[in-house]
Amino acid sequence: MSKILIVEDEESIADLEKDYLELSGFEVETASRGDTGLEKALSQEYDLIILDLMLPGMDGFEVCRRIREVKDVPLLMVSAKKDDIDKIRGLGLGADDYITKPFSPSELVARVKAHLSRYERLVGAGRPANDIIEIRGLKIDKTARRVWVDGIEKTFTTKEFDLLTFLAENPNHVFSKEELFRKVWNMDSIGDIATVTVHIKKIREKVEYDTSNPQYIETIWGVGYRFKI
Ligand code: CA
Repeated sequence: MSKILIVEDEESIADLEKDYLELSGFEVETASRGDTGLEKALSQEYDLIILDLMLPGMDGFEVCRRIREVKDVPLLMVSAKKDDIDKIRGLGLGADDYITKPFSPSELVARVKAHLSRYERLVGAGRPANDIIEIRGLKIDKTARRVWVDGIEKTFTTKEFDLLTFLAENPNHVFSKEELFRKVWNMDSIGDIATVTVHIKKIREKVEYDTSNPQYIETIWGVGYRFKI
């Protein structure tokens, strides 16, 4: 979930912005002064900052300048005066966008979304892609250790994730319970082999449409398990 900081001294405006952004699925924090806003902006991670221009403690120009010295987080500046917006543009403080008050909350939300996706694309471009395995409706992100089944994220314990990933990375290969226990639990299979069965059952409950007729992890009777491809 994207986290947004609103630095705004007019409580009614801050509340309105916060409500709309929260309704749109964002996590929102607020600061009512320029200096406390700057402190928050520098000490915590936000995905976007909405900054009013006229603020007690420190004005928005200065807050923007100081944030920009250290962070390239998207910054949206808000002002009641069109002239001020022109002034900020002229100063080249590095804000990404400017909105004149009064603005509609839906316009604010639309701009926030546009900047977040633009920023994600920019940042994402320089980052190595996550290691992802995709088999039919199953998507395993090995880097983030997350799993989706038909687009819906499912929660896995560490060992469930390791076991599913191991099988998916070695499809069409039958592994005995002993082998899986050794590979995933990193121990000689003197432990309880039944653990493997229990984990397979839990994984199936999360990834299969019908656990009695598995589409991903097949039971090979008397031998072990095989990931279908
Ligand atoms: Ca203000």
